[in-house]
Amino acid sequence: MFDIHRPRDLSDALQFLDKYSPDAKPLAGGTELLVLIRDRKIPVPKYLVDLSPLRRDLSYVVVENGMVRIGALTTLWEISKSILHQDIKYAGFIDAFRKFGTMAIRFNATIGGNIASATQYSDYITLLLVYDAELRLESVHGVRKVRLEEFLVDKRKTILMPNEIITEISFKEPPSKTSSAFIKFDRRELLIAGIVTGAIYLTEEEGRIREARIAFDMISEHRIPGRARSTEKCITGRNISEETLIEAEQCLEKEMKRISDWWATSEYRLEMSKAILRKGLRLVHNRILNGVM
Ligand SMILES: Cc1cc2nc3c(=O)[nH]c(=O)nc-3n(C[C@H](O)[C@H](O)[C@H](O)COP(=O)(O)OP(=O)(O)OC[C@H]3O[C@@H](n4cnc5c(N)ncnc54)[C@H](O)[C@@H]3O)c2cc1C
Repeated sequence: MFDIHRPRDLSDALQFLDKYSPDAKPLAGGTELLVLIRDRKIPVPKYLVDLSPLRRDLSYVVVENGMVRIGALTTLWEISKSILHQDIKYAGFIDAFRKFGTMAIRFNATIGGNIASATQYSDYITLLLVYDAELRLESVHGVRKVRLEEFLVDKRKTILMPNEIITEISFKEPPSKTSSAFIKFDRRELLIAGIVTGAIYLTEEEGRIREARIAFDMISEHRIPGRARSTEKCITGRNISEETLIEAEQCLEKEMKRISDWWATSEYRLEMSKAILRKGLRLVHNRILNGVM
């Protein structure tokens, strides 16, 4: 069994992790880590560093100086009470929340824990990729900032060192005429990892797409969410018309690599990804046009 260390503050947590890593692991909401330990999917760590005392300092959503900053220990419930659920620029956050686990999970799960879990089912990774998010990683040796895209290596594999903690997620405040959508297809409404998930972010100017950002739960052979960059290029400068939607689907088909497993075939996943793209582009366009969800 493991021992739990309850740090006094961030510095205490970082020192403990530095001294005992890789035998010590951070514990945030526990909705992923404790399940993995219970099911023996990972070796039982010697120590868990309970991050809850750090929530005083690392639980916030603020918009200042053109940046959106989210403390890594902010729970999804707390995010749902923030500006990210009130302004159409961030509409994808409401979509992601509505499809996330159960109410009990949303009260405990943190955004930092979702990112550090690093699976293709980590919904906020897919969403934050289209916001071009950056992470603040801290250890006793200092701070480094990395783009979320560079943080991810493969399923459950990131560049996070065992003695580091994610302390903040940040991204530029989107310009006007911007909105987003997050779409998850699964067999049941809740409580199951999505078979296919996607996020779309558009900035429009005079009815044309000035900037498009598109992410899926998987785009390459890596089992981790990624951006569909070629598809983004295909539609930049275009208006949302049937012709653009067809071309977008064709571009996605060329760029995306899907896999089959016991849940779904690669062909089914690709078709569903195209459906997400089509539905998402229309939805975001309407959100920008009408300013409502
Ligand atoms: C019933 C159920 C339904 C779920 N539904 C969904 C869903 O719909 N969508 C989805 O994406 N996920 C879902 N999950 C997975 C899980 O709830 C999320 O990934 C959650 O956001 C994890 O956050 P946490 O705070 O609980 O992390 P924890 O379980 O505490 O930690 C997860 C991992 O992150 C590390 N970690 C945590 N915080 C930090 C930090 N600040 N710095 C560095 N490392 C850190 C831990 O060491 C561990 O390796 C579900 C889980 C369950 C049990």
